[in-house]
Amino acid sequence: MDETIRKVLEDWDALHLEELPKSVMVDLGRYLFGHKPALRFSYPAAGSFMSISVPGFVKIFKGMIYIARDQLNLDLLTEVDNDIFPHEILFGEMLGYPKCCVEKIANLGENFIDDYNDEFNKKVKRHSLLDISQYSNGIALISHVPCSMSCQSSLQQADQFYKSLEFATGSRDFCSWRDSVIYYFSSKCKGVG
Ligand SMILES: [Zn+2]
Repeated sequence: MDETIRKVLEDWDALHLEELPKSVMVDLGRYLFGHKPALRFSYPAAGSFMSISVPGFVKIFKGMIYIARDQLNLDLLTEVDNDIFPHEILFGEMLGYPKCCVEKIANLGENFIDDYNDEFNKKVKRHSLLDISQYSNGIALISHVPCSMSCQSSLQQADQFYKSLEFATGSRDFCSWRDSVIYYFSSKCKGVG
């Protein structure tokens, strides 16, 4: 097996995913396959989540867990996220979201993000590349809300990740997650409706 892929799969098992929101699997998968420079998620409220071992650098700060490939970016990420000045665009780009999509969210304003997310989920075609309606269940190819149904950067990100998953293999936990994602976005599933 390719060395990079093997490393990815070992790293998948190193994080205690059962104690984290399912959506972390999408973010972590994108990060491990090199499609996302950094990630952030909430520190679990309950459970015995004590340590994490992933490639890169990890920081736990004010109830959030930050992961980035190098220390400098990790410090910057934490700093930007906790800055009192508006930082949606910079922070979104640091997490690897397309510029057009972070600008759209920033223009909408924080209070309207959930509404826009709901609206997007109602409109997006089920099982299409940009379908993020199952993100909270850990089934998605991207981890941001696209600026439109036809956002080329988002489509590209989703397509690249789908292709990475198609060729990946590994531990039972990883394969079970990979299979559910591939099945959801496969033509077989689309046919079932
Ligand atoms: Zn976009």
